[in-house]
Amino acid sequence: MTPTPNFQHPTPNPQPPSSILVTGGAGFIGSAVVRHLIKHTNHTVINVDKLTYAGNLQSLRDVADDPRYHFEQADICDRQAMEDIFTRHQPTSIMHLAAESHVDRSIDGPAEFINTNIIGTYTLLEAARKFWLSTPQPPTPNPQSPNSTPNPHSPMHHRFHHISTDEVYGDLPHPDDILGSRELGLENREGSTSPSPHSPSPIPQPPTPSPQSLFTETTPYHPSSPYSASKASSDHLVRAWHRTYGLNVVVTNCSNNYGPYHFPEKLIPLVILNALEGKPLPIYGKGDQIRDWLYVEDHARALCTVLEHGATGETYNIGGHNEKKNIEVVDTICEILQELSPVQHSTLNIQHYKELKVFVADRPGHDRRYAIDASKIQQELGWTPQETFASGLRKTVQWYLDNQWWWQPLREKYNRERLGNG
Ligand code: NAD
Repeated sequence: MTPTPNFQHPTPNPQPPSSILVTGGAGFIGSAVVRHLIKHTNHTVINVDKLTYAGNLQSLRDVADDPRYHFEQADICDRQAMEDIFTRHQPTSIMHLAAESHVDRSIDGPAEFINTNIIGTYTLLEAARKFWLSTPQPPTPNPQSPNSTPNPHSPMHHRFHHISTDEVYGDLPHPDDILGSRELGLENREGSTSPSPHSPSPIPQPPTPSPQSLFTETTPYHPSSPYSASKASSDHLVRAWHRTYGLNVVVTNCSNNYGPYHFPEKLIPLVILNALEGKPLPIYGKGDQIRDWLYVEDHARALCTVLEHGATGETYNIGGHNEKKNIEVVDTICEILQELSPVQHSTLNIQHYKELKVFVADRPGHDRRYAIDASKIQQELGWTPQETFASGLRKTVQWYLDNQWWWQPLREKYNRERLGNG
């Protein structure tokens, strides 16, 4: 699709009500999507979730009683269950978020990742193909001019939206590493790091990737972990079902999310909750890994924008322009906590939460840097994040302080022990 110059935000134009099947709607991002759809659109939502350790219906407490919300507990790998749900609910589109999502757990036990992320996606694609493509569907009229040819991007006309990660691209050069190679004199004048400048017939070297490089929609896939490899596989399956069978698909690849209702195995909620209890704040390696953070509600809005306005067969990268080293993230959380809930010296025997930081063995195969070029979704669809990292992180810390009812019971599922040692 050619970028639209001088993009104008679409005027509010309520879509005709559709029936959206959201997989993984009890998870962190899925629940944000479900809350967004129920609160800000007129669509019906069918939440299909197996309720693994990561699924939590409490995250949907605000919308669970809405007549447009339906819940089906089912495994996306179960073909019969998926077909029954299609028959009962006749969804017009799917937002597919169900996945095993934690890299550390994929190192300890990859099987569930292969199963849910690859076989589960395949199972859903086949169910969608059977229900949507085996019988001819009437074209959806363009709501703006009903007599014109159908809108080729006809938003809610049987669309399979696959939600993926930027981790499929592998990692980007880290500014510290590039600086290090310059300091060691390894770089030649063209900027490459060829081993011997005196070699009689030097092998041409690719230009040194710059520390400013970002993941674009055409960056080749180079996944590092069982998690990212399983997500990469699922992305390929979705694109193959578009090319081979003509399924209306759209794929999004997003950077690290953070925000309310985040299961405390992931860095930001783990640090907040450990700090509040005076427990060590584990920092992998030197803590210099860089991630590009996106507030989960900005992601949910982006996903709904892509579902409704994205072009068929296209990929959109979604990111927050917030590159931060993990150690900076931990320090900032400690500062915010110190301000919002100052350390009780008598209880924790420390003066500042930062004293709880502990450096631990790095994750095997740990990617150094992720950063997203989100210009395509901004220019073509008009989406931009609303939260800065400072505003989003403050909201997040405040949310955990205010919502113990949500996170206290999770200790039974996971007591914040170290995962991912392999
Ligand atoms: P999550 O782990 O919080 O939630 C996953 C949900 O999927 C849970 O509710 C779980 O019960 C459900 N689920 C797992 N296996 C299932 C199965 N076999 N059948 C049905 N339901 C099943 O994950 P998340 O962080 O909300 O991520 C959602 C999606 O977004 C994933 O596909 C992930 O790869 C992608 N993503 C996540 C991030 C991030 O930072 N969290 C970033 C980019 C992309």
